[in-house]
Amino acid sequence: MLREGVQVLGDLALAIDPDEVLRFQGYKKGVDVPTADVRALLDDALAEGARLMAPRAALRWMPVRRRGPDTIEVGGETLTIPRTAERWGEVEHVAASVVTIGDALERRVAALWESRELPLASMLDSVGSGAVESLAEYVNDVLCQQGLAAGLAVTNRISPGYADWNVAEQHALFRLCPGAPVGVTLNEACFMTPGKSISLLVGAGRRARVDHYFSQCARCWMRDCAYRRTPARRTVHR
Ligand code: SF4
Repeated sequence: MLREGVQVLGDLALAIDPDEVLRFQGYKKGVDVPTADVRALLDDALAEGARLMAPRAALRWMPVRRRGPDTIEVGGETLTIPRTAERWGEVEHVAASVVTIGDALERRVAALWESRELPLASMLDSVGSGAVESLAEYVNDVLCQQGLAAGLAVTNRISPGYADWNVAEQHALFRLCPGAPVGVTLNEACFMTPGKSISLLVGAGRRARVDHYFSQCARCWMRDCAYRRTPARRTVHR
């Protein structure tokens, strides 16, 4: 049984994936190797980022009312997400979520820019971006675990502004799952505050298409999951 209403998750045991941080610094995984100096800077920024981040998530499960090849009607909203029927298969529920690491890290980055400590400012900013991406993965895995408990397979996340989904639908997503319980606001231009926040949507169904979503399991910490599609490489759980 999926829980009704908005759930708020706080105090999450989030681990920041260093590869995500380096990706935001422009490093290609398996190709670019950071120097010892960059490694040391990364370690300092990761330690500071872990102290400053306050990962929280609001999420809400809802039944799907109707579907078209590119549309999902849910909670009084009609979302237009190109090719979603093909990508997700048969989904009977969706979960909308807003996740954030809070604003302390970005305030520290601003102070570092101000004092011209540019390398650390840049690396800490990437740590914040990597942290919120890791948090979105973490929540995707929580949603998968909740879905499996209700007998439903859960898809990978998508977000407004990606995979051809118009960023303007961010407002509809916030109506489905408000960011206010975790302190996230949305302005007219669809910009979230704090900046290190992500909104996302997953689908769930007994016959949802998930076999090609290997990335989800690769970071999931759930041991002995009978539905695991690939071994965990490095989880996003401390
Ligand atoms: S291992 Fe994969 S299928 Fe199992 S709960 Fe985690 S993400 Fe879902």
